[in-house]
Amino acid sequence: MSARVTGMRRETATARTLVLEAPELGDTVAGQHVDIRLTAEDGYTAQRSYSLASPSGARPVEVTVERFEDGEVSPYLVEDVAVGDPLELRGPIGGWFVWRQEQAEPVQLIAGGSGIVPLMAMVRTHAAALSTAPFRLLYGVQDPDRRYYRDELDRRAGPALQVDVRYSRRAPAGAPVGRIGVADLSLLTVPAEQRPTVYVCGPTGFVEAIADGLLHLGHAPERIRTERFGPSG
Ligand SMILES: Cc1cc2nc3c(=O)[nH]c(=O)nc-3n(C[C@H](O)[C@H](O)[C@H](O)COP(=O)(O)OP(=O)(O)OC[C@H]3O[C@@H](n4cnc5c(N)ncnc54)[C@H](O)[C@@H]3O)c2cc1C
Repeated sequence: MSARVTGMRRETATARTLVLEAPELGDTVAGQHVDIRLTAEDGYTAQRSYSLASPSGARPVEVTVERFEDGEVSPYLVEDVAVGDPLELRGPIGGWFVWRQEQAEPVQLIAGGSGIVPLMAMVRTHAAALSTAPFRLLYGVQDPDRRYYRDELDRRAGPALQVDVRYSRRAPAGAPVGRIGVADLSLLTVPAEQRPTVYVCGPTGFVEAIADGLLHLGHAPERIRTERFGPSG
């Protein structure tokens, strides 16, 4: 189906949010993604998946893309595509890695880098629905300059949403530096005894390390939902 870029926002030096009008896109649920296909003049095509950052049912929809230097698709979406340009979409896709506002149980969101995107859709949906389900977000990012949605998350953080950020390479003065480990998980996430649904999203290596840590802390495998964004970042 065809979509049109109707707006954009720079999130960081290497990431951009695209606002897309897609009249034929079916109803969306927080956590889902779309496939974007680019076709070159010679007919060569390349397709990649991008999670929806916009809340369930919102129009227009939004995706946030991180540029990979030697990437086929992401550099075009982050640097070249312009307002008014058409894009070819397929979706929405996904039924397991989703949060629905009917869910009342505690929710733990754990993001690595661009893995924050679908979790932000869940945060926005949770707020829009005035849901009372306790929400907690642990956001792993290389350094402060690579944080997405900074002002919005700071604004939304409060009794309904607890936000913790961990920096793996460089941190503000006084903040710890390092990858999220089991000690961080036990300190900064909803305990297993509270039977939260845990959503983990990011590069493959990050997701696997976090899922192992959660199992080690006693979370039930069926309560851990994972979304891998591809090669180990
Ligand atoms: C379900 C799903 C949802 C996704 N949602 C998003 C999203 O919301 N935002 C977003 O920015 N990306 C998202 N991705 C990743 C996206 O689909 C692409 O993999 C990414 O944009 C790179 O594509 P490319 O064509 O630019 O790079 P490619 O040409 O595919 O790869 C170029 C180089 O980058 C490396 N690379 C590619 N992808 C990754 C990665 N994820 N981590 C580390 N190294 C990588 C490759 O090893 C290669 O060396 C998602 C992936 C999946 C499977």
